Amino acid sequence: MVSTEANVVEPVFSEEDCIDFFFSKKWPNGFRCPQCGHSRYYTIRTRRLPLYQCHNCQHQTTLTVGTVMERSRTPLYKWRIAFHLFSQPEGVSAVHLSEIISVTYKTAWEMLKKLRLALSDKDTQRPLTGRVRAGVSIYGKRTLQPFYRHPKERPVMVSASFQADGQPSYVKLKMIADEHMPGKRTLLYSGEVAFTKQHVQPGTFDVRFLKRS
Ligand SMILES: [Zn+2]
Repeated sequence: MVSTEANVVEPVFSEEDCIDFFFSKKWPNGFRCPQCGHSRYYTIRTRRLPLYQCHNCQHQTTLTVGTVMERSRTPLYKWRIAFHLFSQPEGVSAVHLSEIISVTYKTAWEMLKKLRLALSDKDTQRPLTGRVRAGVSIYGKRTLQPFYRHPKERPVMVSASFQADGQPSYVKLKMIADEHMPGKRTLLYSGEVAFTKQHVQPGTFDVRFLKRS
C-alpha cells in the first residue's frame, strides 16, 4: 500500500475513505453520542472534517476528538499510513515517516510521540494478572561475550498472563533499565520489583521470573 522505496506518498486512501475508515473504528456499532448515548445524528460538512451533531442533545463531536489526531492539521490519510507503519513489527523512524507521508521531520516526530504515548497508556491500563511468567531476553546486536553487554544489546522483559489452558492471553515486552541489569545474564531483584509494581495487577500472587539458562 505504501511505496517506501521511492519515498513518496501514494495517495491510496482518499480523505473520504479515511473518514469512513476512522468512523467505523471509532463507532464500530454505529454512532453513539458521547454525551447522551443517542444513535441518531446530523452530519455538518462545513469544515475539513465533518461534525456529528446528536439528534437528541445537539452535542457536537468529531472523529478526532479524544484520539491522537485531535487538533492535528495533518490529513487523515497521512495518519492512516502512520498508524499502519507504526504498528509493523519493525516500526518506523521519524525521518522515514516524514519522507513517506511528506511532512516535516518535526511533524513526523510529534506524530510518533503521540502514537507511542497512546500505546503505553493503553498498555499501562492493562496489567498482567493470573498466572504471570516473565523472563529476560536480549535483542539488538548479538555478541558472543557472555557476561558484558554491548551497548547495542538491549535487555527486554518478555512477560505474559497465562490462561488455565496454558495459552498466553496477554503479552508484554518491556525494556529493562540498565540499573536493574548491569550485565548480560542477571536481572537484579530491584528489576523484578520494579516490573511487578508497574506491570502486574496488585494482589496477583502467581508471578514467576524465569532464570536465563
Ligand atoms: Zn446526545
